[in-house]
This record gives sequence, structure tokens and C-alpha cells, in this order.
Amino acid sequence: MSTAPIQHLRPALDPAAITWRQLRRDAFWQAIPAWREIDEATFCDVAWQEKQAITSPRKLIETVGPLAPADFIEDFEQGLHRAPMTVRISPYVIGLIDWSNPYADPLRRQFLPLASQLQPDHPMLTLDSLHEQADAPVPGLTHRYFDKALFLAHDICPVYCRFCTRSYAVGTDTDLVEKVSIRANPERWDRAFQYLGERIEVEDVVVSGGDSYRLRADQILEIGNRLLDLPNIRRFRFATKGLAIQPMKILSDTPWLDALTQVVERGRKLHKEVCIHTHFNHPNEVTGITEDALGRLFERGITVRNQTVFLAGVNDEAATMTELVRRLSYVNVHPYYVYVHDLVRGSEDLRTPLHRALDVEKAVRGSLAGFNTPLFVVDAPGGGGKRDAHSFEHYDRRTGISVYAAPSVKPGAFFTYFDPLTSLDPAIQAEWQDPRKAEAMIAEAIQAARATS
Ligand SMILES: *Cc1c(COP(=O)(O)O)cnc(C)c1O
Repeated sequence: MSTAPIQHLRPALDPAAITWRQLRRDAFWQAIPAWREIDEATFCDVAWQEKQAITSPRKLIETVGPLAPADFIEDFEQGLHRAPMTVRISPYVIGLIDWSNPYADPLRRQFLPLASQLQPDHPMLTLDSLHEQADAPVPGLTHRYFDKALFLAHDICPVYCRFCTRSYAVGTDTDLVEKVSIRANPERWDRAFQYLGERIEVEDVVVSGGDSYRLRADQILEIGNRLLDLPNIRRFRFATKGLAIQPMKILSDTPWLDALTQVVERGRKLHKEVCIHTHFNHPNEVTGITEDALGRLFERGITVRNQTVFLAGVNDEAATMTELVRRLSYVNVHPYYVYVHDLVRGSEDLRTPLHRALDVEKAVRGSLAGFNTPLFVVDAPGGGGKRDAHSFEHYDRRTGISVYAAPSVKPGAFFTYFDPLTSLDPAIQAEWQDPRKAEAMIAEAIQAARATS
């Protein structure tokens, strides 16, 4: 055996540079005044997490107390009045927020609206911008693509994201939005399963809502087994944000995990794939608890894929996105999609121009395995479906209008996406305020798209 030193072609790497493997295992929650005495076993108990969830400004004050600046709480209270989503945030997330600077914290930005940071909605914004209701043959079941469908099992989540694309239905009414109800109703579920059985071309179902973390173990079994019983259904996914905001459920809610495992294993025997799709947005959401939870799922042979939303001030830097994707890969989560932010009411401060996503995509691609490299997509407003962000027919950075075609979804139609006004030149911003000029800019963009395609 040769002992000659290897002539490395690459410079030596400082182990400290491998930041994505350094996952927090400290008692981070003990920095929160109300939880100074809370031990790990208590914090990692899902029932405790549920009981301590923050659902109001009052509860936030009681919990973080003097940590949060007084003007911050005021700002939050004002922000809530103008928000399309109610507040619900897990102790796990509260503990991971940097309370010395909550204004800039990437986790705070996702869940707690601040009046001082809100921006007016884009003039082209509508409440159900993805046309999920228009493409729903029965309530709570959207059938847009040929062979796959979206089943909204219910309308509740373990946390509420400010930027929820389904704020037309998910959560309870707010000052701003009266919601469409999609409860876990047996007759509605029956109609959805009947429809799925009758559409013999459908092979793939997304079970979402609402969040699969909020389905009881018996409901996981009910939905799972009824889908597995349909001969045409070959694969489905349970969608949940839960792994990112309450990973301890996987470690402490045995009936739920066993129900999921039972469905996955029955599916495997039938040669049908059942997996989880989750929603991490920032590397700080991945901790040692996450690693343990994802390890448990991996041991049970449960595939987990991730869908990130591209958010200003959260993950719109190449370094942050690369770190997120590396961390997810390290804990055996496949990064699947990065969504360019939908047009959603009350979350304009979280949107970015399309070109920012294109730049970050360029930096991420090539960093790691292709199957761990997410596809950046625009979910085309108006029901065009998901399009590769780079595949626009036309993009005018001056007006912020991009135009997409979706030949397999709505042949012949063009779909427009709009950069946030604040990213545009002030003169163009003024033009957008005039409906006639706005219409003309859009017509011009579609004309240009038609000419090139
Ligand atoms: C996202 C989505 C799906 C699933 O699409 P994939 O690209 O397979 O992840 C299905 N139906 C609707 C309406 C969707 O929005």
C-alpha cells in the first residue's frame, strides 16, 4: 500500500466551513423567559407544543415578555388587523427566533406580520390567484393537470404562514378575509374519492389543505386506505409544513406516525408510492430535533421532499438558499421545488422580482447532486400551473411582467406574473396605478410573447 501523500487539487477545507452539518442541539428555548425551566423532554413533547402555541399578541407578550421590544408588539398588533391569516406559531419556532432583532429575523418574517413592513398589494392581485376554486369539479378538489389532482382534506394548520397561497380558505376569518370553508366533512371527502375513482386518468394525488399534521391518525388511515383502494391511483403525498415547525411530533406522536407508516407500507406492497411533501424555508429551521425526526422517517422508509417558497429577507440570498438545500439533503430531505412567491394578499413585502429567483437558481445549481437541486417554479396566476421559472415566453424587467405558456394545461393561453412594484422604477410604479396604463402594459407583454412563441 502506498503512503505517498496525495497532491490535492483543491485547497484544504477548514471543518468550521461545513456549517450545514452543524445543527443546533442546545436548549435554545430556555432563552425565552417563560420556558427557562422547561427541559428537553417537555419541549419535545408534541402535546406541550400544542398547548403553548402562540395565537395572540397577549400570549406573545406573556411568553417572550421583555425579550421583544415594546414597539415590536404594537407593530405586530397593528399588522394583524391588516393580515389575511390569523396567527398561530409553535414554541419551536418562537425559540428559534432571534429576539434581539425580531424585525430582521427570517422566521419572524414568515409568521408574524408587522404593520411597519407591510406594503400595498399589487394592483393585479386576486384572492384565489391560482384559480384553485375555478378548477375544482367538487369542493376542495382541484383537478388542473391531466393525471394529478389536489385534495384539500381540511382547512387547519399547526402554524399559519403569512404568505399562505390558500388564504382564501385556510385558517379562520380575519379582519381582511372571510374564508371559504373546506372542513373535514365525510360527505365532501366521499365526493372527492368518488370523483378520483371516476377519473381513470388520475394517478397522482396531493393530500393537502390545511396540513396533514392536523389530520388525526384515523383520518390518515381513512384517506390513505381509500386512495390505495382506487386502482387508478399509483402515488400520493401527504403535504405538511409540520416537519419544519414541529419536528417533535414525529418523535412523540406514535399513533400518527404509525398510521402514516401503515399506509406507506400497504402502498409499498401494492407497488404504490406514498410520501411526505414538506415546507422548509430557512436553514435555521433545521436543528438536531429535525435530524432525529427525519432519521426516524428515513428508518421507516418514508420519502420526504421539500417545497420552499422564495421569500424576500428570508431565503433570497444565494448563500442562504444553498445552505438550506445542503442542510435538507444532509437530513435526507429531497429539495423538490422553490416557488417564486404567489400573488397573495398582505404579503407583498415577502415577494421578490422574478430575476432575483433566477439569479439564486443559477448559484444553487451545480452545488450538489442534481436530484437534490430544486426546480425554481412560477405557479402561473390564473391557473396555468407550475412553470420552470426560466421558461417564460417574455420577461420585461422594466414593467416587471413575465409571460408564460402552459401547453399541456391550457393550450394557447398566456399567463402573466408580476414583479412587486417596489422593485420597479418609480415612473413605472406610477403607471401601474392607472388601470388603463396597466392594461396596456400587460397587452404589450402578451403581444411580445405571442410574437416570439
Ligand atoms: C402543485 C399541484 C399539483 C402537484 O404538482 P407537482 O408538480 O406534481 O408537484 C397538483 N395539482 C395542483 C392543483 C397543484 O397546484
